[in-house]
Parts: sequence; C-alpha cells; structure tokens
Amino acid sequence: SKFVFVTGGVMSGLGKGITAASLGRLLSNAGFDVTAVKIDPYLNVDAGTMNPYQHGEVYVLKDGGEVDLDLGNYERFLDVDMTSDHNVTTGKVYQHVIERERAGDYLGKTVQIIPHVTDDIKRRVREAAEGSDVCIVEVGGTVGDIEGMPFLEALRQFSHEEDDEDILFTHVTLVPYSQTGEQKTKPTQHSVKELRSIGLQPDVLVGRCEDKLDPDVKEKIALFCDVPTDAVFSNPDVEDVYHVPLVVEEEGLDEYVMEQFDIADDALPKAER
Ligand code: ADP
Repeated sequence: SKFVFVTGGVMSGLGKGITAASLGRLLSNAGFDVTAVKIDPYLNVDAGTMNPYQHGEVYVLKDGGEVDLDLGNYERFLDVDMTSDHNVTTGKVYQHVIERERAGDYLGKTVQIIPHVTDDIKRRVREAAEGSDVCIVEVGGTVGDIEGMPFLEALRQFSHEEDDEDILFTHVTLVPYSQTGEQKTKPTQHSVKELRSIGLQPDVLVGRCEDKLDPDVKEKIALFCDVPTDAVFSNPDVEDVYHVPLVVEEEGLDEYVMEQFDIADDALPKAER
C-alpha cells in the first residue's frame, strides 16, 4: 500500500476529514483501491459513549462498531464498507497494550509509549491498509495537541520503515482573511513549524480559505514551509461538501499525489473516471 497521512493545523473543524475523503474519492475514480483509517486521539475506546451534542453523530458500522462520524464520510465518499479496525483511538491502543502487559507478553520489560504504544499504532494502520492500493490515514485533532503526540511519533517512525515514494504527508491548514482582505499565511507557517519540531515535514499543503488561494499566497506558503509551489493547494468554501472532490480535482491534488506515488501511469484515462 501507499499511505497518505493527513494532519491538521491551526484549528479543528477545518475540513481535514472532507479533504482526505475527497482525495480518496478521486484516487478511487482513477481506478485505485482506496481505504481509510481515522485516528482519534481520545481515551474513549470508541465513540459509543460520547454525547452526540458534543461530538456529533455516532456512526454505526455494519460490524456494529460505534465510531467517529468521519468514518461515515469515508464510507459515503469512497463507497466502501469500513470496520471498527478503521477507527484507531487512544483508548483501543492503551486497552490492548495494558491487556498484553497483564498477560506478561512483554516479558518483564518496562512498557512504554515508545516503542510499545507506537508499535501497536503502526500495526493497526498496516492491518487496516492490507489489500488496498492507497490508504488515507487521518489524524484527528490539531498538530501540537498532547493527545496526538504518540500517533504523530508512530507515523514518523512508520515513514522511515516504508519506501519514500510510498508515504505522503499532507497538512490541511486555515488561511484566514485579515481585516484588510488579505489571505494570511502566518497560521500555516506556525503549524508547519510545529510539525517540524516533532520531526515531520509535510509534502503537500492544503489551505482552507473562503476563496481559492492567490498564486502569490501559494508561493509564500511554499517558500516558508519548504515545499514546491505546485504542492500547495486550495480548498475554498463550497455550498455542498460533495463538491469538494471537484474543487480539489480542479486544483490538481489527485494528479500531484499520483505523480509523487509514481502511479500516474496506472491510473484510468481521465475520460473513463
Ligand atoms: P475536520 O476533519 O478538520 O475536523 P471536517 O472535515 O469534519 O473537519 O469538516 C468540518 C465541517 O466543515 C463539516 O461540517 C464540513 O461539512 C465542513 N466543510 C469541510 N470542507 C468544506 C468546504 N470546502 N466548504 C464548506 N464547508 C466545508
């Protein structure tokens, strides 16, 4: 499998999940088998006990799994059935690691976040991706949250264990308008700095903004965040989230990802998608 890791910067509720699901839809249209994993860095084992007023819809899967509503987006956008294994939570990971500790599986070792928790996270991501061409892995929350750290560390390790052309880090951030009507890049610069401080360099940046990003704004983001200008994409506000795949396709996000993965030659011709 190839892996697209999707992180979010600046704030949650930006549209990270919709962006990730839209990219998945486009890769699936191009003929690839796409699956997704949603990582939720909360200690709840699953979303079943969470207040829907606080959390939103609790999505129920065919296997009975009560999971995060983002899994609903993935099922609807990708037209595939997910299982509970496609929703990895801190609660699930710790429960499993602690059960193994009680059973003596760690043979007397000190059980630690690195490597025992991170190993379990990597195992879950690999198992969920099995059989797919591309697996989109969305990390819930925002870069810099304490809760997300073990997951980002696990993905950092993961990226070194796989071939370079099989991993793509995509960071979705907010590009707000200032009072004077300018698209501001500083929040994006800061969240990329935060990512870098934990050893992750994004390959692709997606700017959520009311409108498309101006070309000079893309250039500035590229320069300050150390990515090529053609790796910066806009995801403007649309009336209907089901239009997001169309706007990111127009931006060329799917083509760029396929080129980076070196799979563009295996894709269906545009007319057949
Ligand atoms: P995150 O994963 O960053 O928390 P979501 O993908 O769940 O965010 O999206 C948060 C909200 O923003 C959802 O209600 C979604 O419908 C809306 N949204 C996402 N992308 C867009 C867009 N391009 N235009 C308008 N609304 C959007």
